[in-house]
Amino acid sequence: MSRPRVRADLDSLEGYHSPQVEVEVRLNTNEAPDAPPAGFAEAVARAALAVEWHRYPDRAATELREAIGGLHGVSADQVFCANGSNEVLQTVLLTFGGAGRTVLTFQPTYALHGHIARITGAHTVVAGRDTNFLVDPDQACTVISTERPAVTFLCSPNNPTGIVEPEATIRQVLQAVTEVDGLLVLDEAYGQFSPFAGETLVSDDVPLVVTRTYSKTWAMAGARLGYLIGPAWLVSELEKVVLPYHLDVLKQAAGLAALEFLDQMEARVSGIVEERGRLTAALRSLGAEVWPSGANFILFRPPGGDGNAVWQGLVDRSVLVRNIAGWPHLNGCLRVTVGSPGDNDRFLAALTEVLK
Ligand SMILES: *Cc1c(COP(=O)(O)O)cnc(C)c1O
Repeated sequence: MSRPRVRADLDSLEGYHSPQVEVEVRLNTNEAPDAPPAGFAEAVARAALAVEWHRYPDRAATELREAIGGLHGVSADQVFCANGSNEVLQTVLLTFGGAGRTVLTFQPTYALHGHIARITGAHTVVAGRDTNFLVDPDQACTVISTERPAVTFLCSPNNPTGIVEPEATIRQVLQAVTEVDGLLVLDEAYGQFSPFAGETLVSDDVPLVVTRTYSKTWAMAGARLGYLIGPAWLVSELEKVVLPYHLDVLKQAAGLAALEFLDQMEARVSGIVEERGRLTAALRSLGAEVWPSGANFILFRPPGGDGNAVWQGLVDRSVLVRNIAGWPHLNGCLRVTVGSPGDNDRFLAALTEVLK
């Protein structure tokens, strides 16, 4: 049988994978530990009963975008929604990346930035970080003025390091990006867990978009909903590229309903931040090297530095964390999601045993 050939530039592409293993304690994908409040599920159920299934959804997702705009103090036409922030990123890259263009990332960071960029046919340039995993602003500006990327990614808090970039770095990189007529994508998937929010920099004459997701803080990874805020003209360009009616009617309703529970969500964020502090201290007392996190996960290097063996030991005790021990610059490291206090206890107990 003949097999059509995959595009030559995708030949060596490896699919994105985050291994799933059947375990009791899952702390590997930075999900929220609890389902959304009961009132949310009821609101979505009511919305489901009222859906006109024979009609296309509101293509412009007007109500949802107005509500999100209200949340961030921007207008609805500065909000673009999609199926997870991954589809937001894909749409940005289809519009501003693509063949003949360069996309810049700073490693180690969220693998999908470079991955989706390559799928759109863009040339990717990978710059480094300093020894604390921070972007060095002067070095970043040099790379940007030499490579002239069409799209530059910053991720803050960064995944998988948890590092929060100082506001001054973001401003300096934005300035450099502006000078080469590029676009800065600030991925704030974990923005709610950190003090600085890039939304204050968003304006119609600044080449910046800030991406957010319902998957983490909003405890809605199952819904696949994300968005960006950015210049209104840019949102119009994205709307031309993305598939019409990509946001189904129930998802729009779910996204809207969630925003009614802002107070509960903020309380949960504070709970997770508290647990993050407790886990960080416990990991340090077990002798691990731990990086300060502004997100709902923690990067650490177990004592002895054999991340693979420790990961397996945890799996044997039915605890799953993310194994990134083989990533460039992250030799021997693991990433643990901050879970419920009970799951965090299970993790710490298992780790204590493994390290004995
Ligand atoms: C989890 C995550 C996302 C979220 O992707 P969704 O498609 O919205 O689930 C985006 N960026 C980063 C850095 C993430 O860690």
